[in-house]
Amino acid sequence: GDPMPRPASTRVMVVANQKGGVGKTTTTVNLGAALAQHGLRVLLIDLDPQGNASTAMSVEHHRGVASSYDVLVEEVPLVDVVQPHHEIPGLYVVPATIDLAGAEIELVSLPAREQRLRQALAAHPLVDGDGEDRFDYVLVDCPPSLGLLTLNALVAGAEMLIPIQAEYYALEGLGQLLETVEMVRTHLNPRLTVSTILLTMFDARTNLAAGVASEVREHFGDQVLRTAIPRSVRVSEAPSYGQSVMAYDPGSPGALSYLEAAREVALRGAPTGGAR
Ligand code: ADP
Ligand code: MG
Repeated sequence: GDPMPRPASTRVMVVANQKGGVGKTTTTVNLGAALAQHGLRVLLIDLDPQGNASTAMSVEHHRGVASSYDVLVEEVPLVDVVQPHHEIPGLYVVPATIDLAGAEIELVSLPAREQRLRQALAAHPLVDGDGEDRFDYVLVDCPPSLGLLTLNALVAGAEMLIPIQAEYYALEGLGQLLETVEMVRTHLNPRLTVSTILLTMFDARTNLAAGVASEVREHFGDQVLRTAIPRSVRVSEAPSYGQSVMAYDPGSPGALSYLEAAREVALRGAPTGGAR
């Protein structure tokens, strides 16, 4: 297929949806792996206290490991908590430990409480800048809530990727999510755009999934990637082997579609100013 071009500057993409189980973590991990496999430099930040992305990337994330908690609460520089992926060159992970569960509350009384991830990213030498080794993508995996952790991500990023599970209640809660985006745009981060919507766990055999998909496409138009991720057991098995689905079963429909989704993201490039 086509190569995946490097963006002109670091693209910070926040993978968010306050609904749990819609494929945020699965998307962050596999998109990140797919981009890195194609020669792009990727930093994946786990902002969910559950640490599912850290598990899937098989980076250490037991209590005491330097993590996103230390960055947000203790102002430890991001460079000091980054771990390289064990297999894929160019892929780096900031793990989440269970400490992060307390951060939601601890952050409330800290100065610039919703700016902390943005500040940490701005201070990282490989975010933006002109060096060959600059990160092409920073992908942030958010928890299933609209609290201060997700807010930190939305303030830090320019792009938001919303995974939508192609099922009956898919659009429920989306209004609240988009209101939050508007609030962030107005008060905290005018650059924020919903650049990418990805249909996940799509079951092509059901009319329901097809109906939800066309409703989502009607509503969001070009923001929706052409590629939908099919429901596939290989996708759900891969994390327990600490692998991306591309490494676990390269020929599987899940692997091929995440690769295709990554290609679309790379080829479409960053949105130009004002788009949303
Ligand atoms: P979130 O991070 O939004 O809570 P996850 O990515 O953890 O969602 O996905 C929720 C569950 O669905 C996980 O068990 C995951 O393995 C499974 N899953 C995600 N995408 C797929 C898919 N395309 N096919 C089958 N199972 C999937
Ligand atoms: Mg998750």
